Amino acid sequence: MKLVWFRNDLRLADNPALRHACADDEPVAALFIVSPTQWRQHKMAPIRQRFMLAQVDVLGHELAALGIPLHLLRVETFAEVPAVLADLCCELGVTRLYANQAIEIDEQRRDHAVTAALAEQEVSCHWLNGCCVLPPGRVLTGSGEMFKVFTPFSRAWLKALDEEGFVIHRAPAPRGEPLPWQPLAERAWVDEALGELTADPRWPVGEVEARRRLNDFLEQAVLDYGETRDFPAIAGTSVLSPYLAAGIISPRQCVAALQQRLGYRPQSNSQPGFVWLNELVWREFYRHLLVLIPTLSMNRPFKPETAALPWSWDPDAFAAWCEGRTGYPIVDAAMRCLNATGWMHNRLRMIVASFLTKDLHIHWRLGEDYFMSQLIDGDLAANNGGWQWAAGTGADAAPYFRVFNPTTQGQRFDPQGEFSRTWVTELADIPPAYVHQPHDWLRLKGRQDYPAPMVDHAVARVRSIEMFRSLEK
Ligand SMILES: Cc1cc2nc3c(=O)[nH]c(=O)nc-3n(C[C@H](O)[C@H](O)[C@H](O)COP(=O)(O)OP(=O)(O)OC[C@H]3O[C@@H](n4cnc5c(N)ncnc54)[C@H](O)[C@@H]3O)c2cc1C
Repeated sequence: MKLVWFRNDLRLADNPALRHACADDEPVAALFIVSPTQWRQHKMAPIRQRFMLAQVDVLGHELAALGIPLHLLRVETFAEVPAVLADLCCELGVTRLYANQAIEIDEQRRDHAVTAALAEQEVSCHWLNGCCVLPPGRVLTGSGEMFKVFTPFSRAWLKALDEEGFVIHRAPAPRGEPLPWQPLAERAWVDEALGELTADPRWPVGEVEARRRLNDFLEQAVLDYGETRDFPAIAGTSVLSPYLAAGIISPRQCVAALQQRLGYRPQSNSQPGFVWLNELVWREFYRHLLVLIPTLSMNRPFKPETAALPWSWDPDAFAAWCEGRTGYPIVDAAMRCLNATGWMHNRLRMIVASFLTKDLHIHWRLGEDYFMSQLIDGDLAANNGGWQWAAGTGADAAPYFRVFNPTTQGQRFDPQGEFSRTWVTELADIPPAYVHQPHDWLRLKGRQDYPAPMVDHAVARVRSIEMFRSLEK
C-alpha cells in the first residue's frame, strides 16, 4: 500500500506526490492531518483554516470517487505527527509515503522526524516538488549560492525553465470502485477543534473554480495587468493567491496556461504577460529564499544588521493600524477590507506595511503576524518577504530612504477614492478631490466621525530615515 500525504497541495491535477503514488497498480490511500493547536501557534487565520478544510472536503469526495480513501487524522501539534503516521502506516500496511516538500522550518523538521520514524518500520518517504515551478536550490548564482537580489534571480529562473521545461500532469484515473465519503461537517471532532466550519461564499473552493478564475483572468486582464495591477478599485489582478497558497492550483498550471494563452512564454518586460509571470517568479524567489535561508522562518531579518533597529511595540498605535483608525483613508480602507474579507490588494499591502514600519516605526514582525492571522492566502514565504521588503530589512528590500507617502499613494492609486470610500464609510459622501486629505472638508462640515491623522507623515519619514542611518554609525 502507498500513502499520499496532502498538505498545502490540495489538488488532484499536477500533484507530483499523487502522480508518483499512482504510477502503478499498487493500492493507494491518502491522508490529511488536522492540527488545530499548531495552526493557532502559526497564527493561521480562521478564514484560511475554513477554506482549507472546505477544500479537503471536496478533495476527499473526489478521491473517494477514484477509489482512493482519504484518511483524516487529528493531532494538536506537529510533535505528534511521526507517531500517529507510524501507527497509520502499520494499520494500513503502508510501505511507501509520498508528499510534496514543505518549505517552512517547522514543517521541514516535522518531515525529517517523520522520515526517521517511518524508516524504523521500513517505510520509505518520497518528498517531491509540488509547491514551486522550479525546486528550491535549482536556481543559484555561479558560485552556488542563493541570489540575494530579485532581477538576476528572475533571469536565471527563466533560463533554467527554458533548459528544463516542465509537464503538467492530469489527475489520476480511477483505481477501483467509488468509495463513500463522510463530509467533514458530519464529523463532530473536526467541528469541536475548529469551530463553525461554514465556508465563506466569497471564496468558493474546488480545482474547477481555481481554473475558472485563472482562465477568466487570462482572457483579457493579463494583457492589461501592467497598467491596471496597482489600482485596488479595478479587478486587475488574478486573485488566485488563496488557491495557490492552499495548492488548489499549482504554479506550473498557471505558467502553462499563460503560455498556452499567449502562444509563447514571455521573456522580457516588452512582451505582454511578462509582468504577471514575473509576479509568479517573485513567489518562487521568496520560497527559494525561505528554504535556503532558514533563519527567515525564525523571525530574523534577512539583513542581520537591521536586528538592532529600535522598533516600537506601542500597543495603542498598533491597534489603531489593525482596526483602520489611523486617519489616513487609504491605510484605513485597506485594513478594514482585510478584516472584513481576508484579502488585500498587493499595492495596499505595500502601503499599509510601509505605514506600520516607517510611519509608526512598529516592528515588522507584529504586522507580519497580524496579516497571517487575517489573510485567507497567508503564506510564510510571501508574507515574510513582503514585510521585510517594506520594512527595509529584507532581500532586495525597498531602500530605507524610500518611504511611501500614504496621501500621495492614495491620490495616485485610488484617484477617485472609490476604494477608500467603500471601506471608510465615514467618507462615503466626500467629494473625490478631498478623499485622501479629508480633514479640512470634515472640519468645515462640523464632522468629527473620522479620526485625525495619528502621525505627521513628514516628521515620521525623517525619523524613519534617521533610524536606519543610525545603523551606519
Ligand atoms: C506586506 C506583504 C505581505 C504579503 N503577504 C502575502 C501572503 O501572505 N500570501 C501571498 O500569497 N502573497 C502575499 N503577498 C504578495 C502579494 O501581495 C499577493 O500575492 C497578491 O496581492 C495576491 O493577489 P493576486 O492573487 O491577485 O496576485 P496576482 O497579481 O494575480 O499575482 C499572481 C500570483 O503571484 C504571486 N505573487 C504576486 N505578487 C507577489 C509578491 N509580491 N510576492 C510573492 N508572491 C506574489 C501570488 O501567488 C499571486 O496569486 C504579500 C505582499 C506584501 C507587500
